[in-house]
Order: sequence, then C-alpha cells, then structure tokens
Amino acid sequence: MSFILVINCGSSSLKFSIIDPSTGEAKIQGLAERLSSPGAKVKTKFSEGTSHEVTLPDAGHIEVLEEILHEMGGLKIVGVGHRVVHGGEAFKDSVRIDEEVIQGIEDCRELAPLHNPANLIGIQAAMQKFSDVPHVAVFDTAFHQAMPPRAYLYAVPYGLYEQYKVRRYGFHGTSHYFVAGEAARLLERPISELHMITAHLGNGCSACAVKGGHSGDTTMGLTPLEGLVMGTRSGDVDPNLHDFLARRLETDLAGVTDILNRESGLLGLSGLSNDMRTLLQAADEGNGRAGLAVEVFCYRLAKAILGLGAALDRIDAVIFTGGIGENSSPVRARTLNNLRVLGAKIDDGLNQEHGKSARGRITSQDSGLLALVVPTNEELVIARETDRFLTSTPVQ
Ligand code: ADP
Repeated sequence: MSFILVINCGSSSLKFSIIDPSTGEAKIQGLAERLSSPGAKVKTKFSEGTSHEVTLPDAGHIEVLEEILHEMGGLKIVGVGHRVVHGGEAFKDSVRIDEEVIQGIEDCRELAPLHNPANLIGIQAAMQKFSDVPHVAVFDTAFHQAMPPRAYLYAVPYGLYEQYKVRRYGFHGTSHYFVAGEAARLLERPISELHMITAHLGNGCSACAVKGGHSGDTTMGLTPLEGLVMGTRSGDVDPNLHDFLARRLETDLAGVTDILNRESGLLGLSGLSNDMRTLLQAADEGNGRAGLAVEVFCYRLAKAILGLGAALDRIDAVIFTGGIGENSSPVRARTLNNLRVLGAKIDDGLNQEHGKSARGRITSQDSGLLALVVPTNEELVIARETDRFLTSTPVQ
C-alpha cells in the first residue's frame, strides 16, 4: 500500500489527509486551526475510529507537519498533493512542484491574494519536512481551463484580458471533475457522451456545465465571488454596486469587497447565519428572513443551471454535491421546483433518502430532468492526481 499526504493549507489553518489512492481510504484525516496563535490546535481522526486533539500554542505550519509526522507513526508516504486555489492560465493541469512552479503560483498571487500565498506556505513547509518525496500541485482552476473564450471572456476592453489576465477562471474544479466522473459511473455511460450540470454547494458554491467530461462554463469568475449565493458571499451583483456603496457608506472599494465577501450571501440576507442547517431550522420555526435567504439561494441556483444550459446540447443530469447539495433535501427540492420549465419532478422519497451514505437519483421516473446526489471527495482527486505523477514521472 502506498499513501499520499494531501494538504489544503490556509493562512491560519491546515487540513490534511493520508489517503490510499487505489482504494480511496483515508487512513488519517486532520485539521489544524488558529495557527500562530496561543490557541493553535491539531485534531486528528484515524480510520479505526479513534481521534486525538493536541493544543500546540503558537505552532506554525512546520510544527503542524511535525505533529502529522508524529501521528503517522511508521506510516510511509510516497508523495504529497497540495490543493492550490489559483493556477491562472499558466496551469491547465496538475504539475510536479519545482522552483519554476513555485514562481508560477507566486505569479498568480494577484488573482487570489488570500489563498495562493497561504497555499505556498504549506508547499514550502511540506517540501522542507518531506523533502525525499515528490510534491504535486492540484489547482482549483485547472479543470475550467477547457472553457471556450465565449464563456471565459468578460465584455470589457480586450486589452484588460491581454494585459492583466482579466477573465473568468472558475473554481471547485476538482469537485466538479470528480462528481461528473462518479455520475457517469452511476449512469453506466461514458463521460464523453454526457452533458451535465454539477452544483457544488458548500460554504462556497459554484455550478458547472460539464460537456463530455470538460468544463464548458461555470458560475465563478475572476475570483470565487461571482455567481451563486453562498454562505457569506453575495455572488452576482450589479457591477455598479461597488461605486454606489462606496459613496453611500463612505467606505473604499476594499470595504465594499469585504461586505460582499464576508457579510453577504445567506448570512447577509437572513441576518442570522451562513449555515444552511441553522437557516432551514429557523425557517421551519417561522423566521421569515431565514426562509427568504433559502428561497433566494434556491432560485438563483435554478437560474444559474438554466443559464449554464447554454453551454450544452442537452442536460442529461444535474448533480448536487457539497455539504448542502449532499445533505439538504429541502434545498434540492426547492431548486428542482424552480426548474419546472425543464420538466423536473422530484421524487420526495428518494430525495429524503439520499445523503452522505447514499447516492443516486432524486427525480421521479417520469421527470423531464434527471437529478442525482453524488458526494464529492476533493482530497481523493488530489491523491489520485499526485499518484499519477509518481507512476508517470521518474522520481529524481
Ligand atoms: P466547505 O465549503 O467549507 O467544505 P461544506 O461542503 O462542508 O463546506 O458545506 C457546508 C454547508 O453544508 C453549511 O451551510 C452546512 O449548513 C451545510 N450542511 C451540512 N449538513 C447539512 C444538512 N444536514 N442539511 C443542510 N445543510 C447542511
């Protein structure tokens, strides 16, 4: 058995898993939070069902990797896969990390100022701690590099694209790719023949038109703020809103961006929470604003699905995934109810049944639109991508 360490590194957090890419089994999974603060801690879960939590005051990324090594005991890893948010136009596929790749990720910093520098901290710390195995970068944007210009260009002066790479990139690529593949398996049809729309609904949300296994269009753009309503992100707004709010609130553009990223979406609409579970419960108990937030979320998702249909010849299936997509039957039901124009008919029994443990169809046999629930597994994609490099490129 050969294991891959998968790292998803934020500025003050680090998620990790140790996965056997051939079976998909996660031997160890963990989360380090509040790094470089007195409350820094690492929680680790083992496949046998045990778990462990340690507080490591002021620990940084290196100390966390030391803790991971310790937790691994005698377990050997053959490679490290890193999630990298933005690969710009430079990275159309996963890549083995070397100095040039590190520079390339650094060059995309402007496009993802919060994420790429944090991802690089993880890469550099891990390359130091696990120096004898290859490291592979897997980009959230890479899958969407297949989008045609009609989908990725904004209707702004073309020179802005040429000079500053202003275009739509899309994110959650590993998830859209994974669930599209799983759906094809479930439908027992080659992915090359399928036209599908995948909806990844977590704290961040995006939908993607997957045509023959490739991204034809997606809802996120230059940054992960565009598109659907999300936990705290607004998704699409009038581009003039920045100017309008900057004047009315007497703030600067960064202040407005902050409102749209952190105080909007489900949280902003409800005034209560960014968490779908909390909102559904509050709505059931009569909280009107919570209900409204859920309604806007589902309506905008349905509208986006119809829009993405323009990238396809037909819609063979709509796939729900991510924390909300996999677990929330009311969100799926309301979204499909807004897709009556496509003949969507939900099967209430199947819709209730499907969740983390079950995958498959949630629409009725006579529905004009097929909808499926497919749990995502981004860590497994990263582990498999890393494994692909181990077998295809000689280890130096
Ligand atoms: P992230 O994008 O951070 O990985 P997740 O994919 O875990 O997030 O999704 C988090 C969202 O999933 C939250 O809004 C949470 O409320 C929602 N969620 C998780 N379980 C349920 C559930 N049983 N019903 C409704 N929503 C759920």
